Amino acid sequence: MTDGLTTREIQSELENVLGLDGSTDIIAHVNLEALGPIEGGAETVIAAILAASGTVVMPAFTYQTQIIPQDGPPDNAIAYGTGDEMNARAEFYRPDLRIHPDCGVAAETLRQDGDTLRSIHPILSFIAQGPNARSVLGSQTRQNPLGPIAWLEAHDGGVLLMGVDQRHNFSLHLAEQRAGRKSFVRWALTMNDIEELPNIPGCAEGFNMIWQHLYPFTSVAQIGLARCELIPIEPMLALAEQMLRENPNFMLCNKPSCLSCRARETH
Ligand SMILES: [Zn+2]
Repeated sequence: MTDGLTTREIQSELENVLGLDGSTDIIAHVNLEALGPIEGGAETVIAAILAASGTVVMPAFTYQTQIIPQDGPPDNAIAYGTGDEMNARAEFYRPDLRIHPDCGVAAETLRQDGDTLRSIHPILSFIAQGPNARSVLGSQTRQNPLGPIAWLEAHDGGVLLMGVDQRHNFSLHLAEQRAGRKSFVRWALTMNDIEELPNIPGCAEGFNMIWQHLYPFTSVAQIGLARCELIPIEPMLALAEQMLRENPNFMLCNKPSCLSCRARETH
């Protein structure tokens, strides 16, 4: 009998099956529940990822700061003037604002660690811990929210997915932007202002369309109950961009009600 996975067991899978060697810088997306029982919970998983990797980046997004204004630019996948309820609940962005639950408990656990740094974007901040944390986070600006993804690409980084599928593979948005796909303007409540933030990517519900095409360079492991993948960012983005240029509607979802995907569709 066991009380669940240990740090040593998870680290061993990350290294021996996925091929992490303690030096690769990664962005990690973790669904803790999918792993099954873990001795020590989120902290155990985070400790294993930190031990197996170089610098660990995770999304620390704060959708709860968002405001919907009365009007704004056209074709922006937003219903202007409908945000009264949401606007009333919006939280001021501050560096210690908790991460939105959609990013998972593991990310919030890493954020609370005293050695973790955070970038400054009021909606799409990242957290990082490790030797290159300052450098990767410094590559993000308000105009360039995907800067850390390009940084990881340029430094032979990888995407680690643990118990999540490609819909959580945020890095694919960089391929969308490079292929010319539209991005959006969003607004966030900050201590000083309501900030207008450009280049915000859209819906990712269609991202599983690329899954099988990534197989040739994806490493796969089963850790606990979860399927886990390590994908090198550079070839992943090159392939995604090429496929998007060949088919401009690739990786859009098919929900008729999806404002984001319908605004980015070409006919
Ligand atoms: Zn969609």
